[in-house]
Amino acid sequence: MKTVYLDNASTTPLRPEVIAEMTKVLTQNFGNPSSSHSFGRDSKNLIELSRKSIAKNLNCNAQEIIFTSCGTEANNFILLSCIRDLGVKRIITSKIEHHAVLHTVEVFEKQYGIKVDFVNILPDGTVDYNDLEVLLSQEIKTLVSLMHVNNEIGTILNLEKVAQLCKNHNAYFHTDTVQSIGKTKIDLHELPIDFLVASAHKFHGPKGIGFAYIRKGIVLHPILLGGEQEKGLRAGTESVHNIVGMAKALEISMETLDTEKAEVLELKEYLTEQLYLNFPEVTFAGNPSDTFYNITNVILPFDENKISMLLFQLDMNGIAVSRGSACQSGSIKPSHVLEAFLSKELLKKPNIRISLSHYNSTEDVDYLIETLKKI
Ligand code: PLP
Repeated sequence: MKTVYLDNASTTPLRPEVIAEMTKVLTQNFGNPSSSHSFGRDSKNLIELSRKSIAKNLNCNAQEIIFTSCGTEANNFILLSCIRDLGVKRIITSKIEHHAVLHTVEVFEKQYGIKVDFVNILPDGTVDYNDLEVLLSQEIKTLVSLMHVNNEIGTILNLEKVAQLCKNHNAYFHTDTVQSIGKTKIDLHELPIDFLVASAHKFHGPKGIGFAYIRKGIVLHPILLGGEQEKGLRAGTESVHNIVGMAKALEISMETLDTEKAEVLELKEYLTEQLYLNFPEVTFAGNPSDTFYNITNVILPFDENKISMLLFQLDMNGIAVSRGSACQSGSIKPSHVLEAFLSKELLKKPNIRISLSHYNSTEDVDYLIETLKKI
């Protein structure tokens, strides 16, 4: 059966160069990086070279990168440590965050008695910066946790603006950059961001590896206790092949960024055009010309009773898309992200999230449109 993968915000296929690099490490470098003999030193060396390469691509210091098992762990680590170690008494976040932040903040609110404020989301799915400024004007030790690119609708946070607002109001700034790292340039020398997180499987790297960036001078304590790995900030034997694979994936993504970004953007424009042409009453959650170049959330002018069968029928035809984040894609309830800003009428309509990569083509889009027309 023909298959078409249009769910790149959930995860991405690995680049062949990444697989080759990881295979080399798996076959040649099994030493424990904490061992003092040459096998261990070789593995340790690979980890530190990877850290340097990642830091170079983000224009930060290698010591500011801490490897974690995934984006979720990095988010948990930063949020918890800010409350416990930095005396944060309030978190300003939004209702459109990934559950890796939203659920974590909700639990910490109960567990640690912190205050949580949700910044207003505008009807186009973007953050209301005026509301953020009003919230920030309150005198309370604050962490702002707002994602860069939304994984369901592709809306983009203005990092410069929010970082500056936080700086002006003496608040820490954490941003979940899981959807944007490897897909856009982020210069941490220029941007006064305190913390960010990434996950390799979103940029054609392996699953089970991510990192946290912690600005130099900020002292956090680990949530995983044990050995002295990651300068004592994250105990546990490092996954050397995953770390090397992640660094390689980021390196290639940044080298090829301009060409791949242009290709994907062109494909998104083609997809939008075809959707309007074939379904004139189509609408979008988030304006497709303002959202990130690889994500679009389409609200289809189909009958409400088609919601439950839509993904199933696409899947039966070999097409992989989703409704919201992968963690909740089986649900027929509207996602928490759409609920935060869409009207009741639009929420009743079937929606699908289409997320592209440079491995997609116009034929993939044509096949999706033809299949949607038959539903
Ligand atoms: N944050 C965002 C915005 C995501 O899209 C995801 C993955 O879907 C995560 C965090 C979680 O990342 P991981 O799968 O590495 O835990």
